[in-house]
Amino acid sequence: MTDAAKKATASPSGRVNIKTLQVDDEVNCWCGKCKGFRAHKVKTLQPPKPPKSVCLTCRAVHQVRLQEPGTKKSRSDRKEMPDVPPWPELVAGVDPDTASSYHIMGNFEIGELVMHKSFGLGCVIAVPTEQRAQMSFESGVKWLLQNHAGR
Ligand SMILES: [Zn+2]
Repeated sequence: MTDAAKKATASPSGRVNIKTLQVDDEVNCWCGKCKGFRAHKVKTLQPPKPPKSVCLTCRAVHQVRLQEPGTKKSRSDRKEMPDVPPWPELVAGVDPDTASSYHIMGNFEIGELVMHKSFGLGCVIAVPTEQRAQMSFESGVKWLLQNHAGR
């Protein structure tokens, strides 16, 4: 009888099947402590969970993980709105005399202080187009025209 006793364990692809691991098997798996793939030795089987292994590098004992633990994608993927401070902060400590008086033919820049005859002191917070400026006043955020050819 040919004793094929010990099956050739190493699969050709070099892939490890967690379910067929045996105690003392060596497995190259992720070590959370070393933060990398390291040689581990299987210590205890605990089906149905992956076996516990000891990292031959740092000696940490942990479950066999064949893949790097999920690096979460939620790393501020969402587009952030520009953070505009509330009106009182925008105009805190400024001298209203330095504000440019609002005029439809004016040309305002972000951060510029504006004195509006009805809204009072404000600050330009956005200029999306040449003709429109968004300004923050005590009464709220307003869209105002600018660079308009007056009549
Ligand atoms: Zn390790």
